[in-house]
Amino acid sequence: MSQPASHNSVAWETTACPLCGETRSTPILRASDLLYRVLGEFSLVRCDACRHVFLNPRPTRECIGNFYSADYGPFRGGGDCKLRIVGRT
Ligand SMILES: [Zn+2]
Repeated sequence: MSQPASHNSVAWETTACPLCGETRSTPILRASDLLYRVLGEFSLVRCDACRHVFLNPRPTRECIGNFYSADYGPFRGGGDCKLRIVGRT
């Protein structure tokens, strides 16, 4: 298994709510990565308008792949993934 990127080697961006576009949010949790043990903490916030919970700041689109090893399940194929990233253009 290859190693995912460290937290500090990734470019981060602050974002508005990906569902409604609200820029105000409230921090609700800071946590570490328990699956791949990526160093550092990740911040979850709750949108002040629609209450959606999302990662903020988040890795940029160009860097998000660095968090996942080559053997990460969805990268192995074998099906049509129904998931998509909401609100990223
Ligand atoms: Zn929202």
